[in-house]
Amino acid sequence: MTETGNSPPDAVKLAASWTRLRARLRSEVGEAEYRNWLRQMVLVGIDGDVAQVALPSRFLRDWVRDHYGDKLRSLAQVDWPHVKRFEFRVGAEEATAEPAMADAAEEGLAEILAAPSRAPARIAADNRDSEWMAPLDPRLTFDSFVVGKPNEFANACARRVAERPASAGFNPLFLYGGVGLGKTHLMHSVAWAIRSAYPERPVAYMSAEKFMYRFIGALRGGSTMEFKAQLRSVDVLMIDDLQFLIGKDNTQEEFFHTFNALVDAGKQIVVSADKSPNDLSGIEDRLRTRLGGGIVADLHATTYELRLSILQAKADLAGVDVPLKVMELIAHKVASNVRDLEGALNRLVAHAKLFGRPLTLETVPEVLNDLLRTHERRITIDDIQRRVAEHYSIRMTDMFSARRARAVARPRQVAMFLAKQLTSRSLPEIGRRFGNRDHTTVMHAVSRITELMVEDRTLAEDVTLLRKLLET
Ligand code: ADP
Ligand code: MG
Repeated sequence: MTETGNSPPDAVKLAASWTRLRARLRSEVGEAEYRNWLRQMVLVGIDGDVAQVALPSRFLRDWVRDHYGDKLRSLAQVDWPHVKRFEFRVGAEEATAEPAMADAAEEGLAEILAAPSRAPARIAADNRDSEWMAPLDPRLTFDSFVVGKPNEFANACARRVAERPASAGFNPLFLYGGVGLGKTHLMHSVAWAIRSAYPERPVAYMSAEKFMYRFIGALRGGSTMEFKAQLRSVDVLMIDDLQFLIGKDNTQEEFFHTFNALVDAGKQIVVSADKSPNDLSGIEDRLRTRLGGGIVADLHATTYELRLSILQAKADLAGVDVPLKVMELIAHKVASNVRDLEGALNRLVAHAKLFGRPLTLETVPEVLNDLLRTHERRITIDDIQRRVAEHYSIRMTDMFSARRARAVARPRQVAMFLAKQLTSRSLPEIGRRFGNRDHTTVMHAVSRITELMVEDRTLAEDVTLLRKLLET
């Protein structure tokens, strides 16, 4: 390896620019994140257009490479315009050779590193504007949340908690529902509302994943005491996507203790997950009990009406004029979740702007073509057969068998119907996959189920549910 130069002035210059780079990085990612992940980085040297950086463990190396690699490279352009690439390696000796305390003293952080004995009050004060909490998205507020049947209960609960945090019966607030139905939106809304009504109350919002990485980072960095104290110093703790803690026993344990400490101290907890506390498998019963001990609110799948209102609201917000017919078509077609709905609308608006053409019914399929197709590509006939068999508690082999008993024939027809709706397979192809049946059998199944869905509510609901299960 050749350093940029061996003479002392060059080495000094390099060290100085490395210090500057680290300082820029620190101010960009925030103190805590820097301390957890980046403090132990050591510059090994610069070789041509490659800067080599060492970290003390593979875990840290992978993490830094994947999460900060691009940022480092772009920040490095200031001092090292010739560097095109960063290479990360594991180098325990080199990394520990860096005197962390001296480094910290130089950065004025000695006090923070001496943390375990710090008084909680002091930590709480730091806490409020420290970056160890995830930032809140300014677009996600109650004002921009469109309320309809599927989410009105969850919305009411969230508002109630935002107005009077930690009141009896509403703690914890447990929000659950499928992907893209507004859990994160509601959580941010609660956080914003509490922040503006009670600016002095620290609110911490983070994903369960982040919680986990912070915790692991604290464990590795020997700063668990500080981490715990920070968590326990907030007035409102919000953990998004709790299902990510499943199977992470240590982290779950830590969360459980934090949870208890906060609730016992009269602080508000808000949690979201993809399932209800009862249906979350893999969590300890004592945690399950506590999670369900406040109010549990479900965000249901969107209805056509809600999707239409959301589209109208979003189009208004974006200041674009979308014909009602177009919105109706999207509300029909993009039924999976609100995220996809937004994506579809954004795409159409961008298209209209780009080509300076007004939006019409004809543009919709053209523009959303691949968006709808990617959905199809993901779903296979096999998936459909399996899901349907599971749902009706019949054997997978009954999908191909010649049995004509209603108990298996109807589910088989539902599966054929879904295969036609959700995949791009032709009728003969579908027939072949259902025990070599004729394409007219498939055609018959499709029209039979279409008819039945009008008169038989249960069947219609089954089909809708299966569809949703397959699409998400
Ligand atoms: P989840 O966390 O449940 O996966 P999000 O809260 O991230 O879903 O919602 C996905 C997207 O849809 C976000 O951009 C959010 O703003 C939007 N969204 C969801 N529900 C609504 C709603 N009722 N009104 C307005 N926007 C919504
Ligand atoms: Mg979310």
